Amino acid sequence: MNCQPTIKTMVYNCTNINQTCLLCDAPAHQPYPLCMGCEQELPWLGDHCPRCALPLAIDGFLCKGCRRRPPGFRQVVAAWEYAFPIDTLISRFKHNSQWPLGRLMAQLLGHVLEHRYSEGLPRPDGLLPVPLARRRLRQRGFNQAAMLARWLARQLNLPCCERLLERSRDTPAQQALGARARRRNLRQAFSLLPGVDVEGLHLAVVDDVLTTGATAQAIAHVLRKAGARRVDIYCLARTPRPGQA
Ligand SMILES: [Zn+2]
Ligand SMILES: [Zn+2]
Repeated sequence: MNCQPTIKTMVYNCTNINQTCLLCDAPAHQPYPLCMGCEQELPWLGDHCPRCALPLAIDGFLCKGCRRRPPGFRQVVAAWEYAFPIDTLISRFKHNSQWPLGRLMAQLLGHVLEHRYSEGLPRPDGLLPVPLARRRLRQRGFNQAAMLARWLARQLNLPCCERLLERSRDTPAQQALGARARRRNLRQAFSLLPGVDVEGLHLAVVDDVLTTGATAQAIAHVLRKAGARRVDIYCLARTPRPGQA
């Protein structure tokens, strides 16, 4: 029977002692299920663009993309570069419903954010998960961004605003479109739910991975147009520029 380890993990999680590391099965000796060795080996985000968190060779300078076209969001906060083993862990959380992994990654991103708040990053008025189109939600059964946002909200003591935005349609065949058409296509995919007022609010959009930033950009555009004062993006991982990894 292979149900034993799961039961063991559940018991350990409940009692919060002697947790095993979710990555190597060794005793974690930490208040979360990850041992120090595995934690240190994670691809923590190093020097990056202060605006979009793109990994860069030198810290503190805007990347070429942000210099050429300043994004609608103010700042991206990511815990990791999208690289091994974080890419695998995110995929297992997302496609194999391995929620303890998602919970662990959210907790570690929460620690990064608490540290950033203590260094002066303004706390948002609320967290806002990137919505999934209804069809995709039916296929997958859950929205991984919403789960991350709920866990983060609890840890950071912030409201989780899940009923602000909807993804009115999926956006397939994006690759076939030019950059401008792609931006327009995405922007039209998101809309505020009726009766929602974001005037003057500082919101942080939560997603698992930030790749081109086009989705974040589209949501920031919709929120800013509706009067939001500031939009930040919180994500687990940021992909390096293609060919840079
Ligand atoms: Zn470990
Ligand atoms: Zn940038």
